[in-house]
This record gives sequence, C-alpha cells and structure tokens, in this order.
Amino acid sequence: MVELGPVGGTCVNYGCTPTKTMVASAEIAHLARRAPEFGIHAGPVQVDMARLRQRKRDMVKTWREGSEKRLSYGVDLIHGEASFLPAEPQSPKSTPKSILVRLNQGGELRLTADLVVIDTGLTVNPPSIPGLAPGPSQVPFLDIVSIMELDHLPEHLLILGGGHIGLEFGQMFRRFGSRVTIVQRSAQLLPQEDEDIAQETAKLLREDGIEILLSTNAHSVAASPGGIQLTVSSDPTGQVTPATSRTLEGSHLLVATGTPPASTSPQPASSPTTAASSRSTSTSRPAYPASTPPATSTAAPPSPTSPTTTTAYSRPIYAAVLTPPSAAQRTASFPTASSSTLSSAASASASDRPPPRAFLSASPGFP
Ligand SMILES: Cc1cc2nc3c(=O)[nH]c(=O)nc-3n(C[C@H](O)[C@H](O)[C@H](O)COP(=O)(O)OP(=O)(O)OC[C@H]3O[C@@H](n4cnc5c(N)ncnc54)[C@H](O)[C@@H]3O)c2cc1C
Repeated sequence: MVELGPVGGTCVNYGCTPTKTMVASAEIAHLARRAPEFGIHAGPVQVDMARLRQRKRDMVKTWREGSEKRLSYGVDLIHGEASFLPAEPQSPKSTPKSILVRLNQGGELRLTADLVVIDTGLTVNPPSIPGLAPGPSQVPFLDIVSIMELDHLPEHLLILGGGHIGLEFGQMFRRFGSRVTIVQRSAQLLPQEDEDIAQETAKLLREDGIEILLSTNAHSVAASPGGIQLTVSSDPTGQVTPATSRTLEGSHLLVATGTPPASTSPQPASSPTTAASSRSTSTSRPAYPASTPPATSTAAPPSPTSPTTTTAYSRPIYAAVLTPPSAAQRTASFPTASSSTLSSAASASASDRPPPRAFLSASPGFP
C-alpha cells in the first residue's frame, strides 16, 4: 500500500472522525444553552476552541494510530506519492502496472504488480471567482481541513456551499456561538436530497439562527478591515446589479463547494518542511494558504534525481491490503471512542499533528 499522507485517509484524519468529534462538542454546547428549559442552571456557556481542537486532535491521533497498527499486520506500507509510469515502447504490456513512488523520506521506488487498485480519494477545487484564485489579490479562506484547526471562534462565518459538509460546519459553528451565513447556488440546500428533506433541514438550521441564501451565486471575495467581503448575486444570469446583489461582511470564509475525485496525478512534492509549516499557522484571522486545483493527468513524473529501487510484487497489491488481522490482533489494536481512551491519548505535539492532506492544500507533499 502506498500512502501519501497519514494513514486513515480522509475519514480518519479530515472527515468523519474529526467532524463527528467536533459535532459532539457543538451538541453539548447547544444542550447546555437549553439546560434552563429543563430546569437545570449550569451557568453561562463558554466554548474553548483550543481545548476543543485538542480533543479533536487526540481523537484523530488515537484512530490513526489504531489504523497504522492494524496495517502493520501483514501490509507493506510505503509512505510516498504514487503515479503511473509512462508507457515504455519495449514493454508496452507491463507499463500500465508500473508505478513510481516518490518517497516522503526522499528517494524513489518503482513497483510493478499484476493489479493496481486506485483509491486516491477526493480533492478540493475552489470555484474560480475573483479573490479566491491564487495570486496577489487572493484572500485567505478556510477549507474543510483548516477550519478544524481554528483555535478561536469566528465572529461571523460565511460559508460558500450548502451541501452536507457546508451544513455540518454551519450548524457546528452556529452552536459554538458564531453568526453563520450559508450561500447556496441552487434553489435548495442538499441538492442531491428530496425537496422535502432539504426544506426541513433548512427549517431546522434557520431555527438555530443560521441565515441561508438560496439561488445565490458568489461573485467576488475581497479583504476588508473586519475580515472578508463576499459579494453575492441572486440574478439567474449571475449579473451583479443593485437590485440583485449584496455584499456580506464576515470575519471568516469557509469554501465548501465540493470535493471532486483526486483521480489526477499530483504535482511533484515541494520541500516537506515548507509545506508542513505553511499549513500549521493559527492566527486571529485565518492565514491558511488557499487550495489549488490538482495537477493535470498529463504531468509527467519527474526525472529521477535520487536512487530508485525497483520491486516486483508477485501478487496484486490489493491482496496484501485485504489480508485480515486475526481476531486477537483486531481486539488488541482497534481503538474505541470511550472517554478513557481519549484521556489516555497522548497530546499531539506540533510535529505529530495531522497535517492537511497534500491535495487539499497549496503544496503537495508530507514530511
Ligand atoms: C469533512 C468531511 C466529513 C465527512 N464525514 C463523513 C461521515 O460522517 N460519514 C461518512 O461515511 N463519510 C464521511 N465523509 C466521507 C469520507 O471521509 C469518504 O467517503 C472516505 O474517506 C472515502 O474513502 P477513500 O478511501 O475513497 O478515500 P480517502 O479516505 O480520501 O483516501 C485516499 C488516500 O489516498 C491517498 N493518496 C492520494 N493520492 C495519492 C498518491 N498519488 N499516492 C499515494 N497516496 C495517495 C491520500 O493521502 C488518502 O489517504 C466525510 C468527508 C469529509 C471531507
């Protein structure tokens, strides 16, 4: 198995596990605010984002380490970035099964196998509107990874995108105490869902105090003294006129406009040190580098600059992955979400924090 980032992929590191950990905190804040309705007076509710983030990091670390331990039973795990090698005229049949791995620790490895399973997950492709595209006028914005690394509460969180992920973060941060505005291009939230489901969801979110703008297009983003200005238009043709447009003022902007498959070949990794440090900043305003579109699939692998080892696997790579651990191994290594597991988890230091996935951020490559 070749893995570019931390073991566990999106779900463990940036998806299901951290979001549900934070949703649990949001639910508790929500219930605590409602406690007087139930005859309980526990005092004013305060949300400690730094403590909340640490709990999330600890949970992710526990689950990731459990996944790593399980893989250690019989899987050759290679940390690096895999790409298919271009066809070689002398052996056209074998080349589609040949892979070049740029190892995270440096150097390269060539692998061949009877069968290669591609499971490269998702990427983030921010919409190309002025202010979000890379360049001097780019405004810092949050993506689905960096928003979970905030150590402070946004005063007013603007969210571009009313899909599952946008709504999940919207409700979460509203319940933490932020003002939240969701901008959705289509006429309903959750466009994949039935209309009645979407309407009930919108009703619940509005009851929480979230502002929802439907059939509304983002036109441009700009920095402002208070944070971010997002100009939107409800004109069906996207025109910005005084009658159809308005400018929203927010302290932070989350871009949650979709996660297309990462089926293209990533660019060569930049310096891992630079990539990691540029993503770990946490300031009073988001200072995260913006995501960039993935490289195109036509990008050729770099010419080898360091020793390359070639390994031929006599069995499909996926067969190694599917070899299950024994019941005893499973019991010993599988983490649970109990509070005792959480409290015993070591605090994540700066160096072992989960770095954002390479293709979710500006610079591919992991230390
Ligand atoms: C914010 C958020 C919340 C979510 N919440 C839920 C939820 O509550 N419940 C749920 O069921 N689903 C949830 N999901 C979806 C879930 O995370 C995904 O469906 C799942 O992770 C997909 O698994 P995968 O193996 O296909 O891809 P991934 O988990 O994305 O794994 C792909 C792996 O490939 C690696 N990779 C990519 N390119 C290369 C390369 N060239 N070389 C080597 N390695 C490479 C990546 O580093 C990554 O680890 C959520 C997703 C997000 C973003």
